Amino acid sequence: MNKKLFVISGCSGVGKGTVLKEFMARNSDDFMLSVSCTTRKPRVGEVDGVNYFFLTHEEFEKAVQEDKFLEHAQFAGNFYGTKKKFIKQKFEEGLNIILEIETQGALQVKSKMPEAVLIFIAPPGQGVDELEKRLRGRNTEDEETIQRRLAEAKVELERAKQYDYVVVNDDLERAINEVEEITRKELGLNA
Ligand code: ADP
Ligand code: 5GP
Repeated sequence: MNKKLFVISGCSGVGKGTVLKEFMARNSDDFMLSVSCTTRKPRVGEVDGVNYFFLTHEEFEKAVQEDKFLEHAQFAGNFYGTKKKFIKQKFEEGLNIILEIETQGALQVKSKMPEAVLIFIAPPGQGVDELEKRLRGRNTEDEETIQRRLAEAKVELERAKQYDYVVVNDDLERAINEVEEITRKELGLNA
């Protein structure tokens, strides 16, 4: 069967990580979650090579110069990128791949690989109030970082219009089911 690349984005704090963790728990036989590179410092509990490959600015810049990234972007003061080689290897292993990346990178992927499926996880309601509540509730960022991420959220919501699907993460279980339905439909698994 043809394997696909799914790209999942959503504003910081919307619940992408939570949705994807459960999605992967249910679908790990067929899907692989890509491990990105970043210059961000690890959060408590994050492991190099599992959550991210944590790089120095110099290492990241070198990889950019050597054209190692399928996509890369700056987000809220840090750099993030997906290595071409990582994606190639996972496709060779016969898995569908999920990239959990921000919107600038997602649109780079879509222009290079138009067959990629872009899914945006949106917060309930119109503004960023619920996001602010969730980000504060997560308790992993300082005030300045929270403000930067909320400012980025407004730009990301605008770019969501270019995505193939938008899934509202109001009720967590419903949102996970919707992501599963989209992937099944795109893989031609829904009779
Ligand atoms: P992201 O990966 O998008 O930055 P997280 O997955 O870390 O976001 O979620 C941010 C916070 O919101 C977490 O504390 C998480 O438990 C909570 N959360 C996730 N989904 C929901 C939901 N549907 N309703 C309420 N809270 C949620
Ligand atoms: P965080 O610092 O919260 O882990 O991630 C911040 C943002 O960077 C999130 O929107 C996340 O999806 C995005 N991100 C993570 N990895 C990559 C990547 O490889 N490329 C791009 N463009 N964004 C990424």
